[in-house]
Amino acid sequence: MKRFEYYQPRTLDEAYGYMERFQGRAKYVAGGTDVIIRLKQRAIKLDALVSLTGVSGLSGIRVKGDLTLGGMTLLRDIERSDLIKKHYPALHQAVWVLANPQVRNVATIGGNLCNAAPSADCAPPLLVMEASVRVEGPEGKREVPVDTFFRGPGATVLKPGEILKAITIPRLQEGTGSAFIKMGRVSQDIAKINAAALVVMDGDVCVRCRLAAGAVAPVPMRLKRCESLVEGKRVDLRLLAEVADAASKEVRPITDVRSTEEYRRQVAGVLIKRALGDALAHWGTPFTFTVFDIPADWRYDKDSHPS
Ligand SMILES: Cc1cc2nc3c(=O)[nH]c(=O)nc-3n(C[C@H](O)[C@H](O)[C@H](O)COP(=O)(O)OP(=O)(O)OC[C@H]3O[C@@H](n4cnc5c(N)ncnc54)[C@H](O)[C@@H]3O)c2cc1C
Repeated sequence: MKRFEYYQPRTLDEAYGYMERFQGRAKYVAGGTDVIIRLKQRAIKLDALVSLTGVSGLSGIRVKGDLTLGGMTLLRDIERSDLIKKHYPALHQAVWVLANPQVRNVATIGGNLCNAAPSADCAPPLLVMEASVRVEGPEGKREVPVDTFFRGPGATVLKPGEILKAITIPRLQEGTGSAFIKMGRVSQDIAKINAAALVVMDGDVCVRCRLAAGAVAPVPMRLKRCESLVEGKRVDLRLLAEVADAASKEVRPITDVRSTEEYRRQVAGVLIKRALGDALAHWGTPFTFTVFDIPADWRYDKDSHPS
């Protein structure tokens, strides 16, 4: 690995200063579980890493109507938050199956988004909850919906020096249920495909539906055509099958080392159907995993959660 400088600024201005000094030859580092590996693999060459761990005000979980997660919040802290487990199950499930405890102890939610992998597990839950990110940089502050944050594999709308300061999830409406499902080659691996669903129910009618999937396009994507199939309807098994079929058509996967395009299309449909069923089950409708035709060994098991 090429030698590089390492800086640990205490303030945002100091951090911007280092990025300015190295003119594109430096990167921020949070937990380092993506960026250090890419350096070791020589996938990127840098003269400096600028750590965000010493900058105050970048981490923490706060609720004031909306939920705010600091960009430097550890995945482990999100996993251990009772509030997130209870009220934001899609996000909790995504973090729960992300990598392993060693990684989650150092990796951050901001790093997961800024790394911009199409398979990033935190992206689909944040997409269905219509989260936005607060970005701050040398030129000022701005708010970016997660839906427009990703530009392609490894690319985001962040400008040089900008920092993802926080993620805001709007207050959930009454009657909301949500869920996340992931399929990987083995446990701890990144997703072959992942999916999240959010429903807002009024009686037995779904008044709001949000669906998203990862590793099925250059960026994690909302499935807006599928959402419109569900909104305003009573959800039954026939509609779930229709949504699965539509999801297979709406995704834009490629063939790579983890899966073929055809396989991803098929499984994306099934995962979206299951995530939607789980979101409904979470809210209180009688759908359960067991009505679906997927092996149960990779499903989210609420009972196995640590207390
Ligand atoms: C063994 C292993 C298993 C893994 N499994 C999974 C998995 O199952 N699912 C999954 O989604 N990921 C997985 N990952 C990838 C990784 O752990 C996550 O993406 C993690 O959330 C990255 O966070 P980090 O803090 O380590 O980011 P870093 O590596 O520190 O940074 C990643 C990128 O984001 C930038 N960055 C970080 N924070 C900020 C910020 N606040 N503002 C601006 N830029 C920033 C950095 O400059 C860098 O380009 C795995 C990694 C390993 C090593």
